[in-house]
Amino acid sequence: MVSLLRPTLLAEATSLAREHDWDAKFVSGGTAVVLMLQQGLIAPSYLVYLNDLADVGGWRDIAETGEGLRIGGGVRLGDVARSESVRRLAPSLALAASVVGNVRIRNAATLGGNVAEADYASDPPAVLVALGASIEVSDGASTRTIPAADVFTDFFTTSLGTGELVTAIRVPHPGSARSSYTKFCSRSAEDRPCVGVAASLALSDGSVSRLAVALGAVAGTPVQELDICRRVLGRPAEASLFAEIAEAYAAAVDPIDDARGTAWYRRELIRVLVRRSLADLATTAGGGAR
Ligand SMILES: Cc1cc2nc3c(=O)[nH]c(=O)nc-3n(C[C@H](O)[C@H](O)[C@H](O)COP(=O)(O)OP(=O)(O)OC[C@H]3O[C@@H](n4cnc5c(N)ncnc54)[C@H](O)[C@@H]3O)c2cc1C
Repeated sequence: MVSLLRPTLLAEATSLAREHDWDAKFVSGGTAVVLMLQQGLIAPSYLVYLNDLADVGGWRDIAETGEGLRIGGGVRLGDVARSESVRRLAPSLALAASVVGNVRIRNAATLGGNVAEADYASDPPAVLVALGASIEVSDGASTRTIPAADVFTDFFTTSLGTGELVTAIRVPHPGSARSSYTKFCSRSAEDRPCVGVAASLALSDGSVSRLAVALGAVAGTPVQELDICRRVLGRPAEASLFAEIAEAYAAAVDPIDDARGTAWYRRELIRVLVRRSLADLATTAGGGAR
C-alpha cells in the first residue's frame, strides 16, 4: 500500500523524502514512477507529490533571464517544446522535448523529472549537456547549481543527494551559436533513441569558434568529447572537418549494446549523424559545408 503525501512547501517535501529515505519517492508527472510501480521495480511506502508545491519560484514557468533561460523543474515537456523562448534560445531543447514518447507523455512528464530519472536513453540530458546547462537543486534549506554534465553520473544515477529536488534548469544564452538535436529510433517512432546527437556550433568568419557535441543513449550518461571539440576551434567549417569530427567521435566512444542496437550499429550511426548534424548547423549558421 502506497501513501500519497501532498506537501505544499519545498522544505516539507525535502524533509519527508529525507525522513523516509529509500521508502519514499518524489513524483511529479508520474510517467516513470507509475511504470516502475506497475512493473514492481520500486515499492516505496510513500510518494511525495510535487505538484502542490507553492513556494518554489517559477516551478512551472519558463523565464528569459539576462543570462539565458530558467525553466522550472515542474514544467512539462510539452510546454518546453511549445515555448517560443525555448525555440528561439535553445532550439535543440525544444526539439528534444517535442520528440519524447508521444503527446500524452509530453503533457504529463516534466523536465525536472526527466533529469532526475537519468535514463541513459532519454532525449533531454544530452541536449542539456551540449548546451552547457546547469541544474538548480534544493534540499529545502539551501540551493546549489550543478553543471548538467556533472549531474548524470551513471545509468539511472545522479549526483543529487537524498531529498534534493530539481527546482529549475538553467540554459545559458547561445550568443551566435546554433543548436540541433537528431534522434535516431531503430524500432518505433515513439521509442526512445538508439542514438541521440545534440550539437551546438558557432562560426566566426567561416571558422569554428565554438563547438559542443553530446551523444545520448550510447552509454550510461551523455558522452561529450571535449578534447575533440577544442582542437577544431579556428578551423574552416567545411565538409572534411565535420567528417573528421564524426570519425573522431566514432573512434572515441565505446557504445553499449542493447535491444535498440549493437555497439557496431551505434558507432556507424555516430559517424553519420554527427557529420550530418554539424553540416546542417553550418548551413544555418552561415557556412555552406555539407
Ligand atoms: C511510454 C513512454 C515513452 C517515453 N519515451 C521517452 C522518450 O522517447 N524520450 C525521453 O526522453 N523520455 C521518454 N520517456 C520518459 C519520460 O520522459 C520520463 O518518464 C519523464 O520525463 C519523467 O518525468 P516525470 O515528471 O513524469 O517524472 P516522474 O515519473 O514523476 O519521476 C521520475 C523520477 O524523477 C524523480 N523526480 C521527479 N521530479 C523530480 C524533481 N523535480 N526533483 C527530483 N526528483 C524528481 C522521481 O522520484 C523519479 O525517480 C517515456 C516514458 C514513457 C512512459
